[in-house]
Amino acid sequence: MKKSYAVIGLGRFGGSICKELSREGKEVLALDSDEDKVNEFKEIASDAVIADATDEAALKELGFRNIDHVIVAIGDNIHASILTTLILKELGIKRLTVKAQNDYHEKVLNKIGADEIVHPERDMGKRIAHSIISSNVLDYLELSDEYSVVEIKAGEKMAERTLQDLDIRAKYGCNVVAIKRGKEINVSPMATEEIEFNDILIVIGADKDISRFEKDLV
Ligand code: ATP
Ligand code: ATP
Ligand code: CA
Repeated sequence: MKKSYAVIGLGRFGGSICKELSREGKEVLALDSDEDKVNEFKEIASDAVIADATDEAALKELGFRNIDHVIVAIGDNIHASILTTLILKELGIKRLTVKAQNDYHEKVLNKIGADEIVHPERDMGKRIAHSIISSNVLDYLELSDEYSVVEIKAGEKMAERTLQDLDIRAKYGCNVVAIKRGKEINVSPMATEEIEFNDILIVIGADKDISRFEKDLV
């Protein structure tokens, strides 16, 4: 059977998830308490309904029990977000992704069993900060508190040198897992691989090691 999704809260974040899932051909139920928001999604989502997500009876009646994955994208009203999550958890939803507004909100969501907690503003802020610090850092993905993956554009210091010359793993404890050159991507570069100016390196490592690597070579 086709997997079904529901997005609760059609602000910029929830709205964007809803649009993308729909664009990918997924079955999505869009829900918001605001009529104008719901009208915006009538033509986009499989179904769009006006309801208060903190109303357990309403969610039951809408058949939420049968939805595989629910995304709670209520931002500012933390109380409503927590209560909605709690109700969905009790309804036995298999997978719950919830947007957290702050660390305290995240703690509570964790306690009540949200499967996945996201902080889009915080995480996007971090990613952009890294690319502001160095214009050669194109993207940044946090794996945990200590580890990340970064996308780095090779400048002059790396150009025409091999991974072996630069001795990246031994010196910085980071691994170059892939090198992108135009449309091509090499997902297991050899030690003898020569880096070209403007290649994009995908580097994985501890934050402190990536920082050393960036200081010396980026
Ligand atoms: P974003 O930061 O993603 O743009 P926003 O800040 O514009 O979101 P929020 O107030 O955080 O908007 O809430 C997102 C949406 O959630 C709004 O459209 C709001 O109407 C809806 N919403 C808030 N509370 C409830 C609720 N109890 N039931 C259903 N929808 C709700
Ligand atoms: P190691 O002992 O670090 O595993 P190695 O002795 O097996 O390396 P090579 O695989 O030939 O030797 O690589 C030589 C050096 O080149 C490594 O020590 C490392 O510093 C660097 N290197 C090779 N491949 C990578 C990579 N993908 N990412 C980062 N550094 C690399
Ligand atoms: Ca917001």
